[in-house]
Amino acid sequence: MKYCFGVDIGGTTVKIGLFTTKGDLLEKWEIKTRTENHGEAILPDVAESLEKKMQERGIAKDEVEGIGIGIPAPVMDDGVVQKTANLGWGYKEVTREMKELTGLPVAAGNDANMAALGEMWLGAGKGRKNMLMVTLGTGVGGGIIVNGKPLVGAHGAGGEIGHICVNEAETEACGCGRAGCLEQYASATGISRLARRRLEKDDSPSSLRGAAISAKAVFDALKEGDTVAGEIVEEFGRYLGYALTSIAVITDPAVIVIGGGVSRAGEILLEYVEKYFHEKAFFANQDTRFVLAQLGNDAGICGAAKLIL
Ligand code: ZN
Repeated sequence: MKYCFGVDIGGTTVKIGLFTTKGDLLEKWEIKTRTENHGEAILPDVAESLEKKMQERGIAKDEVEGIGIGIPAPVMDDGVVQKTANLGWGYKEVTREMKELTGLPVAAGNDANMAALGEMWLGAGKGRKNMLMVTLGTGVGGGIIVNGKPLVGAHGAGGEIGHICVNEAETEACGCGRAGCLEQYASATGISRLARRRLEKDDSPSSLRGAAISAKAVFDALKEGDTVAGEIVEEFGRYLGYALTSIAVITDPAVIVIGGGVSRAGEILLEYVEKYFHEKAFFANQDTRFVLAQLGNDAGICGAAKLIL
């Protein structure tokens, strides 16, 4: 039996999975991400943890196909990172350093792309070669898989769909410094923002008034038949659904997988996005299917493992 490791580096923890090359997740665990001193300990900590696991299970180095690593930043094809927002790294040759630390083959990619690859391998996109994964969390992440491979691009920024401009009239700034990005309307924070704006517009009654506003609260109110919550979700669905039609004509996905914390709202979320997608989608994209992600937090380690195979 052959093995591989999938590593998903986050700002607070590193998730690690031991897989067979057939795609069985044998074991998963986490270690702390030590970001101090420009994150210099992160890769050595991971290498040590993998070494320990191999000893513990009696796995020899030649039984390991390699290590795949997902990183929360744009990653070039050669495993080079220019800058990270929350790991402390500046320029870093991740693949080369990890190879030197472990003596094993290494591949690295952006975490959103890894999540997409994971869903394609073992989750909601199983059996597909062309898919788009949209992660609706604090921000909006995207991973585009074309012919079985993540689209990386010239700057490692392929699939950063959260920063498509969907409203040129927007005056508030996005986290990226521009304004009018999809992320400002379709992320958890974006939905809260839409909700606040809607509630301020007039005083129509809503169970959202006087309560803490969150994306979850909006979807919960919608499920209870709140009219104002319905309007907010319509607006969210329109921004996201229309944006996805533009991506669909470029990448032609067979399936669009929606994941991230916001997707816990369930199938009702898909209804609102699909409605607007089908309203504007090019005829050849009309049979694109929408599904909820299946792997949750494991998508990143699964995709990272797949990347090395
Ligand atoms: Zn932006």
